[in-house]
Amino acid sequence: MAEVKIAGAGLAGLVAAITLARRGHQVLVLEREERVGGSPLYHPSCQGSPLNLEELCAYLGVDISPGVEPIQEMREIAGGKAYAFDPRLIRAWFFERGPRETSLDSHLYRLAREAGVEFRFSSPVLSPEDLWDFYPHCIVATGLHFEGFDAFGVPYLTSHHFTYRGTCDPELNFVHMYHDTYTSDYGYVAAFRGILYVHLFNRRRPISLRDRDRFAEQVARFEGLEIPRWNGFTFPVPAASIRTPRLFAGRAILAGTLAGAMDPFAFFGLHGALVSGKIAALAVEDRERAWREFRRCVSPYYPAYCAARLKELVPVSLNVIGFRTVFHRLDRKKSAQRILVEYMPGYRNLFP
Ligand SMILES: Cc1cc2nc3c(=O)[nH]c(=O)nc-3n(C[C@H](O)[C@H](O)[C@H](O)COP(=O)(O)OP(=O)(O)OC[C@H]3O[C@@H](n4cnc5c(N)ncnc54)[C@H](O)[C@@H]3O)c2cc1C
Repeated sequence: MAEVKIAGAGLAGLVAAITLARRGHQVLVLEREERVGGSPLYHPSCQGSPLNLEELCAYLGVDISPGVEPIQEMREIAGGKAYAFDPRLIRAWFFERGPRETSLDSHLYRLAREAGVEFRFSSPVLSPEDLWDFYPHCIVATGLHFEGFDAFGVPYLTSHHFTYRGTCDPELNFVHMYHDTYTSDYGYVAAFRGILYVHLFNRRRPISLRDRDRFAEQVARFEGLEIPRWNGFTFPVPAASIRTPRLFAGRAILAGTLAGAMDPFAFFGLHGALVSGKIAALAVEDRERAWREFRRCVSPYYPAYCAARLKELVPVSLNVIGFRTVFHRLDRKKSAQRILVEYMPGYRNLFP
């Protein structure tokens, strides 16, 4: 049995910790914050992902259901026009993230403690030397923070964000997605378990105040919601190159965002983080097998990366027209989604 050190008590780090501790390894998790639930800049938040919950839990060997619930209502607002979209088509789930007792992070933390994992909070890992004593049994799963990417030499893009977090009726459960020329990515308004979250982001360039205000005007028009203040921040995303997905950096094992388990659009961040945590745990015991499983899981990344680069050549206004056409033709959309996700664990048989 090995002594394993894990940097980061997020989704990937916690799944890896639970898996290894249950298999008899001695696991120590080093977390930057003073408690579980990630950065107060990002969380509490409600995040969403399409997935096959039953298959994903079976793959992970971990029950994530207390931290997630089906999304009840979805709407797509493209170019100022609203289209209803049935979340059941893609089996879309809300994840509660952050330090609250009801979040997925807290649920996984409780499972990890039950399995015997030891935690050290307020302990940022800032360089490979911080893990040196445990090599090669160390996993880096520090998520969307520059320091992990810089310390382990993982390339990234700087993404630009505006968010607003408020409260709402706990019964509300919806996500409304916004596509328009103010960003080449998207914005959304989400309500789940009393958390109201408004988010506009762009992975390639800063968002001007004018574009942010155009988004806010649409939110006011469609939701009747005035945003009282915005939080602006940047964080790294691992979509910098076709070579992004990587399971190892030197002698360390990577998991979650750092491993590239995030989109462009084929590999949702939440789903990718959970799956890659499991694979990172496998890598502690059998590097060869873990590497094969990792390659299998990230195989949709490569065509998705090429498609994303091609999309950038198209003016954003044409993309918006494209979205409107797609939302009109849900049948076409269903088959496109099937092609993107069918190779991923948890997604197989999603569209029987
Ligand atoms: C505002 C926001 C909205 C998002 N919305 C969605 C969404 O709707 N759907 C989706 O699929 N994905 C979404 N994502 C992305 C998703 O959250 C990530 O892909 C996923 O959480 C990555 O998991 P992880 O385990 O790699 O990192 P995280 O779950 O972020 O965990 C990283 C952990 O490492 C800790 N840490 C950081 N630096 C250090 C350090 N140096 N030393 C020790 N510990 C450290 C952090 O405090 C944190 O606890 C969103 C992200 C953000 C920020």
